[in-house]
Amino acid sequence: MFTPNKTIGIFGGGQLGRMLVIAASQLGLRTHVYAPDANNSPAGDIAHECTEASYDDKTALALFASNVDAVTCEFENVPASAMTVISQHCIASPGQAALHTAQHRVREKSLARDLGIRTPRFWHITRDLDLTEAMAELGGDGILKTCQLGYDGKGQVRLSPGDDFAAKFAALQTNDAILEEMIAFRAEASFLVARAIDGSSSVFPASLNEHKNGILARSLAPAALPDAVINEGEAAVSTVAKALDVVGLLALETFVTEDNQLLFNEIAPRPHNSFHWSIEGCETSQFTQLIRAVVGMPLGATKCYGTWQMDNILGEDMRKMDALASREGLHIHLYGKKEAKTGRKMGHTNQQLNSG
Ligand code: ADP
Ligand code: MG
Repeated sequence: MFTPNKTIGIFGGGQLGRMLVIAASQLGLRTHVYAPDANNSPAGDIAHECTEASYDDKTALALFASNVDAVTCEFENVPASAMTVISQHCIASPGQAALHTAQHRVREKSLARDLGIRTPRFWHITRDLDLTEAMAELGGDGILKTCQLGYDGKGQVRLSPGDDFAAKFAALQTNDAILEEMIAFRAEASFLVARAIDGSSSVFPASLNEHKNGILARSLAPAALPDAVINEGEAAVSTVAKALDVVGLLALETFVTEDNQLLFNEIAPRPHNSFHWSIEGCETSQFTQLIRAVVGMPLGATKCYGTWQMDNILGEDMRKMDALASREGLHIHLYGKKEAKTGRKMGHTNQQLNSG
C-alpha cells in the first residue's frame, strides 16, 4: 500500500541521484542523500536532507538508516558493509548480491556464463605472466580492464599480439584485472529491468548506444534490432535480476555482432545513462520506476511512444548550450555541476525523433 511522507535514502550524490530526487519529489516523497561530498553534490543540492560522511562511518550509517524508509544506490561501489547496516533497518536496494557481483568484472561475467548467457571470452589476470599466456590463447586483439572501480572507459587498455604485455599490465596499476577478447560488434545495446519487492518485474524498451572515447555519447530507443535479439536481451537481464534477487533496477550492457549474436558486457544495478530518454519517452521513467519499486508501489507501465534520442552533454559541449537552448523539441537536463571538465557528464538532451 502506498504511504505518503516516506523518505528515500540515496547513497551517492551524482546526477543519477539528482534525477531520483526529482522523481521522488513528484510522488510527494522526501529524499536524504548520503555521500562523502553530499553537501556539494548534484543530488545533495536538491535533496531534503544530506549526510556528509564516509561509507564506513558506522555511527552515521546507523543514524541515516533510522531516518529513512528505504535506501537505494546511485552507483554500484557502495561497500557491502554499508549495505549490511542499512538492511538491518529497512529495504536496501539493489541488494547485497547485486552490488557484490556488479563490483567485480570477473564475478559478473562468471555469473552470466553460469546462467547460460554468452559473454566475450575472458581471463582473470593477476600477474603479467597470466597476461602473456592468455594473449597467446586468445590469438588476437584484446582489452584489459581493472576488475574494480572502472567507469566511462577508465581503467582499460587495448592489446594486440605484438605488444609489450608486461608494460601494459604495469600501466594498469592493479593485480586484479580481466582480459577480454576484442569484439567487432555492429551495435551496443542495453536492456533494463525493474524488479519490485514482491518479485514482479517490468522491462523497458531496449536502447542502442554509441560511445566516444569509452563514454556514452548517444542512445537511440527503442533499439532497432531483430525481435529475436531483443527477446534474448530482455530474457537475459530478467534472468540476472532474478538470480541476484534485485530490488530496484538492473541494466545490462551488451554487444551485438554482425551475425546478431548477443554478448554480455556488464551489469549496472542502478539507473543507467542509456535510459535517460525514458524521462520523457516512457510512461514511467527509470527513476520513477526505481522509486516505485523501493516504496512498494506497483511498477508503472514502461510503454514508450515513438522513437527517442538521448545525447550526453559533456564538459566540452557546454559551449553549445546557447544553440541547444533554442532548438525546438529538445528536452534539456543539466545536473548543476559547478566545473565543466572535459569528458565530465554535465547533462543530457532527449528528443523524440518520430511520434510512432
Ligand atoms: P565501463 O565500466 O567503463 O562502461 P565497459 O566494459 O562497458 O566499461 O567498456 C566501455 C566501452 O568500451 C564499451 O561500451 C565498449 O564500447 C568498449 N568495450 C569494452 N569491452 C569491449 C570488448 N570486449 N570488445 C569491444 N569493445 C569493448
Ligand atoms: Mg559500460
